Amino acid sequence: MSRLIKNIINTLLPSTCYMCDSFSERAVCKSCIEKFNTIYRNEKRLFLKNPPLLIQAPFVYKGVVKEMIEDIKYHGVFFAVPFFAEHLAAMIKEYEYDFLVPVPLHFLRKWKRGFNQSEEIAKEISKMLRIPVYRGVVRVKNTKTQTSLSRKERIENIKGAFKVKDDRVKGKRLAIIDDVLTTGATTIELARTLYQKEAKKVDIYTASMAEFGQ
Ligand SMILES: [Zn+2]
Repeated sequence: MSRLIKNIINTLLPSTCYMCDSFSERAVCKSCIEKFNTIYRNEKRLFLKNPPLLIQAPFVYKGVVKEMIEDIKYHGVFFAVPFFAEHLAAMIKEYEYDFLVPVPLHFLRKWKRGFNQSEEIAKEISKMLRIPVYRGVVRVKNTKTQTSLSRKERIENIKGAFKVKDDRVKGKRLAIIDDVLTTGATTIELARTLYQKEAKKVDIYTASMAEFGQ
């Protein structure tokens, strides 16, 4: 089924909660949200002169969260986008940011998929918090899935994957938006690239965090 048809069906039919299948306007209904309690938070120092990179995720990438991400990413069903955006926005508004920076896809991949899931989430957060989305980063390397590579190979493989097109990030505080963080190699490379463009502060917000060792 095409993405358009799926989205039309989704709009017409009463939506149901991903967990309990009861009718719900939100991807996870109010009583089920209590069962989620998995905030991930970590810090990583990239450059001595910069503040440490804060990495935060409201959910772990498993069960219904994984299902929701896959529906967005592979089926183009955006029902869960506001759900993730809302939880990320709650974390993001604790700090001050000038731009949201979705992790860009290589244009070939975006063209094939028709959208970039991180950008869809970022657009929704942008509406909620009125922080503009910065679209000046391009992915110049179309890296294959990195799952078969070792940690070292991944880092090597992703080097130079991003290009920043202008100087608007200079001196700015940036919140990178991702859908799922696995090893973090890609997203951290993006942070590094933004710091090289003299961003003042860069943090990472991902809708879900893959459990290590999976
Ligand atoms: Zn429910």
